[in-house]
Amino acid sequence: MSGNHAQIAGVSVSLDHWIDGKRVAGADRFATASPIDGSHLADVAAGGQADVDMAVDAANRAFPAWAALGAKGRQPILHGFAKEILARADDLAAVETADNGSLLQGNLHRMVPRAAQNISFFADWALTLLDHKIEHEEVTNNVRYDPAGVAALITPWNAPLMLTTWKVGPALAAGNTVVIKPPEWAPLTCSLLAEIAEKAGLPPGVLNVVQGIGEIAGEALVNHPDLARISFTGSVPTAKIIGQAAARSVTPMSAELGGKSPFIVCADANLDAAAQTVAGQYINAGQVCLAGTRILVEAKIEQEFLAKVRAAVAQMNVGDPRAATTRVGPLIHPEHFARVSGFVDRAKASGAELLWGGSQSDAGALYFQPTMFAGVAPDAEISQQEVFGPVLTWQTFTDDEEAIAVANGTQFGLAGTLFCGNEARAMRIASQVVAGTLWVNCFFVRDLAAPFGGSRVSGIGREGGTWSFDFYSDIKNIAVRKGSFTVGGA
Ligand code: ADP
Repeated sequence: MSGNHAQIAGVSVSLDHWIDGKRVAGADRFATASPIDGSHLADVAAGGQADVDMAVDAANRAFPAWAALGAKGRQPILHGFAKEILARADDLAAVETADNGSLLQGNLHRMVPRAAQNISFFADWALTLLDHKIEHEEVTNNVRYDPAGVAALITPWNAPLMLTTWKVGPALAAGNTVVIKPPEWAPLTCSLLAEIAEKAGLPPGVLNVVQGIGEIAGEALVNHPDLARISFTGSVPTAKIIGQAAARSVTPMSAELGGKSPFIVCADANLDAAAQTVAGQYINAGQVCLAGTRILVEAKIEQEFLAKVRAAVAQMNVGDPRAATTRVGPLIHPEHFARVSGFVDRAKASGAELLWGGSQSDAGALYFQPTMFAGVAPDAEISQQEVFGPVLTWQTFTDDEEAIAVANGTQFGLAGTLFCGNEARAMRIASQVVAGTLWVNCFFVRDLAAPFGGSRVSGIGREGGTWSFDFYSDIKNIAVRKGSFTVGGA
């Protein structure tokens, strides 16, 4: 093995960029630490303009041949890629946990299999459902999903492997080449992904990874003039900056951003299932954009339901994410810990009632107790702003109109969860809550065929199934006058 490597959780991980099928060391480095215990993990390449230029150039050179393979030619290579991801499941899960503190068992049994599926699912979908004909009285419209070019993919630290493959899968299946800028607080699994892509036989330049700081490497990437697409998952302020770059070059951009999602519980719901699901919002220390963080409970069952939730939350062990019994691991970084603590301190100071938690856990420096505030005004900071930590709010409602009004009373519209026993009532409420995804009597079920994205400031566009290809393809219509040929085609 050449270049700079570090042993992370017993796995050798390259710390360099991956550009044009080669490791590139770059001039600068940045440090990444483990949130588990704050220990220094590695010094990773910090990319700049020159690395970005090299990567976009490589991706552009690789594009024509990759596009020319067609969906059929790409499918076996992408299936090989998915298979290699599964073959490295132990390594990927261990490195992800070391790097971002997410639960090892969750990574092993859910995130890594899902990462593989992200690749294979879209490789298959590209073959079956896209190009089609629309007949008109004068012409036949031949609708084609053509490859677009180079896609810049920018991902966050809370689930880098899963969220990167969610973009890489459809982007490559659609015939594009990609440049990935992984998150600087959790850059390591994307480096393994490059190694896996090489092993699977992806041609040089088809998948490139430029490591680095968002404001430097990320900004250089999104401002590059030769991009065909920008796909971003992260915060609203960063989306506004990237959106300006996209606007300057008129590059289509997809964005999946934050949320402050409602979790509505009706009196006739299965309260045990609902209580378990509320407790589940603390998983990954609440660092989940889709989390239902505003619990809205029908007033007449408040006390009964509160007792059930309290009991379920008592089972949410806080601790080392490598332990099988842990349900709540650390926050990602001291800066983020300070941010979460700040929200909690200000909520306390403003008179919100603390039902449980509210401070650092004794599990370690970056561990925060599962926290619940009641008595919060709908317009209070803690009711309005995304905390991205294990912090929920508890409110009651007396009728559905009130529940819907409170649910819709933030700037966000990413997701919502509803537990309800009455189908007609459930569908009435669900249809009125502003959200890209509304889960009824379930949570976090994400069918790759279904649309996914956010309303309001929670995002731009939808991905998943055909929607991913609508974004990652140049959709063309070849309109042919009927009966106009004297010689037929093949
Ligand atoms: P989070 O709060 O989840 O860290 P960010 O929006 O800050 O969200 O980061 C998400 C991703 O965006 C990371 O990969 C980060 O490096 C990148 N990023 C941050 N700032 C910029 C920027 N100005 N231009 C491009 N990418 C950026």
